[in-house]
Order: sequence, then structure tokens, then C-alpha cells
Amino acid sequence: MTDEGLLDAVRRAHGAAAFAQAAEVLAVRELYRRRAEQGVEFAAAEASMAVQISEAVAAGLIDIGIGLDRLPRIREAFVSGRIDLARAQVLVENVRDLPEELLADIEPTLIEVAERLPPARLRQTVRRWVARLDPAGERRRRERREGDRDVRIKAVQDGMAVFDGLLPAVGAQTVAMRLREMSLQVCQADPRTMPQRRADALVALADGSQRLRCACGRGKGCTAPESEPSRRPLIQIGVPAETLLGEGDAPAHLSGYGPIDAALVRRIAEYARFQVIPERIEDPTSPEESARPDPAQWQERDVRALDGMCRFPGCTMPSSESLLDHSVPFDAARRGTVLANLAVLCTRHHRLKAAADRGETSWRIHRVDADRLRWKSPTGDEHTTLREGERYLFPRTDIEAFDALWPCPASVSAPPHPSTVDLTYPIEHGAFVRPELASMTPENEPPGCLVIENPSR
Ligand SMILES: [Zn+2]
Ligand SMILES: [Zn+2]
Repeated sequence: MTDEGLLDAVRRAHGAAAFAQAAEVLAVRELYRRRAEQGVEFAAAEASMAVQISEAVAAGLIDIGIGLDRLPRIREAFVSGRIDLARAQVLVENVRDLPEELLADIEPTLIEVAERLPPARLRQTVRRWVARLDPAGERRRRERREGDRDVRIKAVQDGMAVFDGLLPAVGAQTVAMRLREMSLQVCQADPRTMPQRRADALVALADGSQRLRCACGRGKGCTAPESEPSRRPLIQIGVPAETLLGEGDAPAHLSGYGPIDAALVRRIAEYARFQVIPERIEDPTSPEESARPDPAQWQERDVRALDGMCRFPGCTMPSSESLLDHSVPFDAARRGTVLANLAVLCTRHHRLKAAADRGETSWRIHRVDADRLRWKSPTGDEHTTLREGERYLFPRTDIEAFDALWPCPASVSAPPHPSTVDLTYPIEHGAFVRPELASMTPENEPPGCLVIENPSR
């Protein structure tokens, strides 16, 4: 079988799996309807017994099935294998509070977007649109969920414990960024992986030492900084000026997480530092600036804000933790260092792009215009990413959003619903059979050099 044939087999198998998932969801949903009709409500327990899944997961599947009742086109896309369970779940969860008469208008757009975004990014995009349609509902949902915040230790085995928790997004992102910051404060010779350093850093935060001690064992030869460098802000939020001034309720972008509602961001703004990103019609780069291989300070600030996160399809690494890259390798005579040729890439995907620029892989990356970056995989799959941050900062550039279809902001009731199933497949994966697979994610990529790199050098 050729590589293309294999990838085609992956795609067909994925569609078949989605078809089977849909059949399971619809079957448990029907079981629930029958049991409810009979006045007994143990359908989840019954389903969990039948296939030995937890009752919570069974309840989640029933819940998705019920949600799909109001979304016939999305249900059809699920049944035909066009979208899988993870995506169906994201769509059901995020539009469930919108009024029925508006759903039919937006279903085709939702399906189309679901087909080309991985679940985590799909959730961000749909949340952004729903938050714009229904800012009050977004705020209500957040306030309701904040009551569920919790940190706990569960499942203890092999001398290890799972430290688990649900935090308000801003607090969680603050903890995540602090752990990452501490993980990068050891010297190059530290033998630990990034996941191990994050874990040690969390304990170091609690035991009073406040910083991660380097484990290189080189004593005086260690080059880890003795004193703390001046602190960068731990979290970054992109917010349209109208939202900040209270003249609009478009959502803001919490880097690394996704949309947060206007009321929350206005509260945070009381103790924030600001950088103003002007909306630019033309690129104001001077000829001297474009002839330099390294971006000017304002270019770096603008591109990080406009991109919002790593530009690789599906990657959510915040731009503050990523590198700047010349899409067409720097060459002062041709493209130079201009806004339309700069993009944010995390360390991992920067490495992929650099390898492609050097001709070491058959990945192809093409800068279509200032907004679009097209990725082509070795087997020919194409995916174009856009400047996500720009769509938050200047909401009218978010032309795909479907608020134009709506006569007025939707005002909806907020029924409580349990959030039981994981965002991806409803499985919990613990110890990997092949441990190296667990590290194949951007946040586990060991740090490269966190400076602007110029692939042409
Ligand atoms: Zn060291
Ligand atoms: Zn990335």
C-alpha cells in the first residue's frame, strides 16, 4: 500500500468509527426515551452495564443524543461519518442554549467548520461565535461553572497520584504559564523532560522553594540563572477596544485557552498592563526595517497579537510562548521583514517549518497572503490557518462568524447540565504503551532557543 493509500485508509476508518459512534449515541438515546416513557430513569446504568463504560460516560452519550434532537443536520453529518463524536459533542455542548429557530440557519456552517478543525480548536471557534451572539448567556454560563471549581487528588497507584482540578480559565492559565516559566529556568544540561519539569515545578511552588532547582548535577558549572529574571506577564489577553470600553460585548481571547466573556475581561483589565495594537490597512514597515533580518519590536508585538497562537493547524500554543518566523525565508530583496511575511510558530512547529525550508521534509508551507498560511503534508493534505488573534481584536474581520444571520442577540434560559465526557473521545488514557507518543505534543517539546530565528542563516 502506498503512503497515500494508508492515509486514505485512516480517513475511511475514521469515518466508519464516527458512523459507529453515532449508532451508539442514537441507540442509548432511544433507550433513554423508552425508559423515560416507562417512568424509570436508569438508562445510563443499563447502557453502562451493557458495554462496561462508566455511568457518567453513558449519561454523557445520552446527553449528546438528546442535544442532537434539535440539530438534525448535524446528526445527519454524524451518522454519515462526516464528523465524529468529539466534534458532535463540541457542537451540541456549545449551541445548546441558543433558541431553536436560529439553529437551522447555522447548522451548515457548523458542520463545515467541524470538518476542518480539530475538536479543541472547533470549540474555541464556536464558543467565540456564540459568545458574540449571546454575551449575557456566556457570562451566565461562566458564573454557573465557576461554582464547580475544585482541586483534588484522585486515583493513586504505582506510588503516584493524579492531581486533578477544575479552575476558572484565567487562573488555570496563570498556573500553566507559571509552571512553564519555571520549567525553562534550568540550564541546558538538565536531563528532565518538560512534563517532568512541570510536575516538579508545581511541587516547588508549594514547598516554598519557589523555583525549580536545576538537576544537571554540574555544581558550579551549572549555567542556570541564580536570581530571578524580571517577570513577564503570565497570561495575555487580546481584547477589542470596544469591549474594554464597555461599548460592545465581543469576547476576548485568553492566549492558550480561547474566548472569555466581556464582563470577565473588563474585571481583569483593572490590574493589567496594556499594549495597543492598531488596525492597519497598510503595512507601515519602513524600507530599513524590512531590510533587517530580525523583526522590529513593533512588528513582533503586532504579529504575536494578530496570530494569537502557533499557526500550525490545530496547535494552541500561545504566541507569547512561540517564535517568530519568516514564512518565505528572509531575503531582503524579495519579501524582507514585513508583517505579511511573519508568523508565530511554537518551538515544535518552528522546527518542522525550518526542516521544510531546508528541504529536509516534503511538508510545504505557503504564505497565501497576510492572513492565510497554507500547510501541505507529505501525502498532500492541505490545511490553511488564519490570524486567529486578529478576529478577536477586530471582530468585524471575523467574516465567517454568523452573527449577521441573527436579528438580535439571543436571550436564552440557562438550564443546568452536567459536563461529564472528555472533550475528545470519552476514554481516559493513562500509561502509554509507547511512552514516546505521550511527548509528541507542543507543550512537551523541549525548549529550543527562545529567540527569533532566521532560517536563511
Ligand atoms: Zn544546571
Ligand atoms: Zn505549534
